[in-house]
Amino acid sequence: MEELSKKINVQNKVKIARQGAKPKYCLLCGKEINQICNSHSVPYMVLNTLAEEGMLYNKNKVAEISYFKCEDGIKRTGTFHYICRECDGKEFADYENPETILTKPNDLMMAEIAIKNLLLMISQKKYERELYENDIQYLPFVNIQQMLKGNELDTRDYLNDLEFFKQIKAGRVEYGFQIAYWEVLPFVCPIAVQGTFTIYKDMKGNQIIDPYDFDEKKKNQSVHLCVFPFNGATVILLFYHKRDKAYKQLWHQINSSKREDVLKYINYLVFALTDNFFFSKSISETILKDDAFVRLSREYMEQPNYGLPAINEKDYKYLSNKPVSADELPLIFDEKYAIKQ
Ligand SMILES: [Zn+2]
Repeated sequence: MEELSKKINVQNKVKIARQGAKPKYCLLCGKEINQICNSHSVPYMVLNTLAEEGMLYNKNKVAEISYFKCEDGIKRTGTFHYICRECDGKEFADYENPETILTKPNDLMMAEIAIKNLLLMISQKKYERELYENDIQYLPFVNIQQMLKGNELDTRDYLNDLEFFKQIKAGRVEYGFQIAYWEVLPFVCPIAVQGTFTIYKDMKGNQIIDPYDFDEKKKNQSVHLCVFPFNGATVILLFYHKRDKAYKQLWHQINSSKREDVLKYINYLVFALTDNFFFSKSISETILKDDAFVRLSREYMEQPNYGLPAINEKDYKYLSNKPVSADELPLIFDEKYAIKQ
């Protein structure tokens, strides 16, 4: 009973935070938003490739945190509410397009992907801030003041990056994207991904960026990753903007490595560093129940059990393990896991 009332309490706070996170003005055109748009971070046509009776699994299908749902309808999957309907309908049309989505992306398409990724991050940061300010207790060991400071700096960087990519899209600043990896697999993988994040370590485990460097003057450096199953194929795309110089060496490493090793690395990046991925409900149980996969879903900055002390049996089970490596994980891009359409 106590568990149930705790759950309802958490859900109420999440609801309040969601409402508080809705903006008044469109972040792309600046006009007042009369009717908020339900924008999809991963393109709708991609989610639709994977949806079964309109439903998809999210990352919680693996981590199984009891307060959160592990599946959702396509209309509520990976959505954000930060721009107006008009912008949503036209600002991403170059890449959210059945004719182009499986082709090698041009700069305009990458600018649109980057803009969308930043909108999602800005919206997530606002939502996170509302949660902290509502004093939510779902992470009882975090330092709220420290989290708010980090949140503020991240939001600053994301807003600056958004402005930069908007300028690029408008043709006012030169393009400068670098594709680190692009491939179209001739089958449908059971996962869709679109997101931006910082890579801290290269393929050999050498540090590229110090995750504990909190120098406010430094801007964060990020890559953009997409996995789009569509029309019997799956495109994998990893790119960054050349002003994020930390990735130059990584680009060389990726381009001089074996394809299998790069795929393994990208597979690891998806599950270690992004949140914004969704599974087909036909995904193999072998993946969902894989021990390394479950452990990685409960890691935070390479610390087991989210870096928290164990409080229940499941926590103890995963506490003493070393950080998960790319080699241990099932490769979700392997044809043996492809789903039939
Ligand atoms: Zn707008």
